[in-house]
Amino acid sequence: MQTLREELYSIVGEDRVTDNLLERILYSHDLAPIPPEVLTLFKTLPDAVVRPTNAKEIAELIKYARKKKIPVIPRGAASWAYGGATPVKGGIVLDLTGMNKIIEIDKQEMTVTVETGINWKKLLEELEKKNLFFPVYPTSAPSATVGGWICTGGLGIGSLKYGQLKENVVEIEVVTPTGEIVQVPNKPNYKLDWFFGSEGTLGIITKATLRIHPEPEVFSPHAICFNDTEQMCNAVSKILKDSTKIYFIKFTDEGYLDIRRSLGLFAPKAAACALFVFEGSKKTVRKDLEKFHSIIKKMDCSELDAEKSHEEWDERFHPMRIKRAGPTLLAGDVLVPVSKLYEFFERLWKLKEKFNLKMGIEGTVVSRDSTVVMPMFLSDERKRWKYLTAMPAIKEITDLALKIGGKPYGGFGIWNSFYLDKVYSNLEIRKMKERKKKLDPDNIMNPGKLYRVQTKFRVPLTAKTYNFFMFLLKILRRFD
Ligand SMILES: Cc1cc2nc3c(=O)[nH]c(=O)nc-3n(C[C@H](O)[C@H](O)[C@H](O)COP(=O)(O)OP(=O)(O)OC[C@H]3O[C@@H](n4cnc5c(N)ncnc54)[C@H](O)[C@@H]3O)c2cc1C
Repeated sequence: MQTLREELYSIVGEDRVTDNLLERILYSHDLAPIPPEVLTLFKTLPDAVVRPTNAKEIAELIKYARKKKIPVIPRGAASWAYGGATPVKGGIVLDLTGMNKIIEIDKQEMTVTVETGINWKKLLEELEKKNLFFPVYPTSAPSATVGGWICTGGLGIGSLKYGQLKENVVEIEVVTPTGEIVQVPNKPNYKLDWFFGSEGTLGIITKATLRIHPEPEVFSPHAICFNDTEQMCNAVSKILKDSTKIYFIKFTDEGYLDIRRSLGLFAPKAAACALFVFEGSKKTVRKDLEKFHSIIKKMDCSELDAEKSHEEWDERFHPMRIKRAGPTLLAGDVLVPVSKLYEFFERLWKLKEKFNLKMGIEGTVVSRDSTVVMPMFLSDERKRWKYLTAMPAIKEITDLALKIGGKPYGGFGIWNSFYLDKVYSNLEIRKMKERKKKLDPDNIMNPGKLYRVQTKFRVPLTAKTYNFFMFLLKILRRFD
């Protein structure tokens, strides 16, 4: 009888398959380490890892996996920390980062078509060489793939002006869970919308066509330091209300600046800092800046010089630079209304005191009325007890956001799936589950997540069980 490895060899060739234990261990987790105590619930070690090169190969693999009822887990750069690319009951991990070509740049239609394993930074750099520009990308652009971002969040740098990723995507190619290769939205009865946030559960996205723009004449970043955090929150609100189309705003609190300084990195002495970035033609940016400065000059704040502001703009790809101080970060990621930003800061500071942890807050404004806030607690996974008992702090961040009209950001995977009913209505969840069943009748595409977490013991991990364990850990923290 042929082994799994031999059967996969016959589909993609020997040099694209591995069942070597060491390599499989590397593919058994994403960016976030899972404590061994939790690991026992899942079979995160894949049975094999395959590095496909084209959609046809993937379609053959899917047909094979379907026949054998083997789970298939698509994986980009694994920079999403919710367990999306982590197997929960073994199976075949598909490493898509080898499918990273730019297929076509169409200057007539102003589109670029790419293989989805390409990372955002490489794509942006290639476009820049041709004086072209794709305006929205995640801050994880140096590693995150186009496919990974379609399947997860889709809000990031540039969203404030250009909207979500889905508003900037024209077409995608998908290998369906039955092994068909389809072009969406051209395929009847398929909607482009379904695949944004599908987390690898509805098929494998192999190509994407994105709408591009001529490179803007100017990028003008302005780093502002505030003596008071509430003032910074007010300034953000006011600029959003009064200013024209600003491209990007990010902000940090004093805790974040202090941690940076402790690492010998540049950080101004301030209660909070925000970076405001304008782009466009020289004329429009000049006008925008006049308005911007007329608002800012009435506030208790100071502006860094142009060189420092540009450095801050270059730092946009490294929101987790403070990790070194951990050396582990326990981070939350939540959507919070702009109007509640300061209240959220206050609640987070109390949470930090309660858990007696060092915390830095980083956030970006992603639309006229919402921000993505990422509070990061310094932790050390080697100190098992302390690390485990700090975990409820992450749950509390999400609970706090929900209390003030926010919600978890960036999808569900394993660790956010307990909040599915806080984000979607029962009707929406029913429709999502029906769609999954229809497209993937054998439940082979990234099973055991998003809709319902499955453990290797075939017992689901429910929100009740999760909440109970978090409660227990919180009690145990008192004995620390
Ligand atoms: C420092 C840092 C900054 C970040 N900034 C942002 C941000 O600004 N905005 C934001 O939204 N997120 C952000 N993230 C989260 C994460 O980086 C993004 O969600 C990213 O797009 C994930 O891409 P990836 O290639 O790493 O996907 P992976 O982590 O490999 O996969 C994510 C999910 O998508 C599925 N998947 C991956 N590729 C495919 C494919 N081709 N077809 C089908 N399914 C697929 C996987 O199965 C998994 O469920 C950040 C993370 C870090 C660490």
